[in-house]
Amino acid sequence: MSFPCARWHEPIRQILIPRQGTEITTTQWKELVAKVPGIGSAAQYNQPSDHCSNMKNDGACDCAETDRALVRQVRRGVYQVL
Ligand SMILES: [Zn+2]
Repeated sequence: MSFPCARWHEPIRQILIPRQGTEITTTQWKELVAKVPGIGSAAQYNQPSDHCSNMKNDGACDCAETDRALVRQVRRGVYQVL
């Protein structure tokens, strides 16, 4: 299946606003993203590394490696919310 990252970028950004400046793990990201209204099973395909300022996966959101990225990888599995 294709990665619906760009579709969910904005609602995920909204849900991350209270976390700005803090570090979150991939597990915490998954817990937060699962709360996005309507995301359903798409949540499991959505990773912090898909919305990351310092890496770009295949199929990542178009915010990857731009100033619109949602997180910056601090170390493996840990991200700072931007
Ligand atoms: Zn994004």
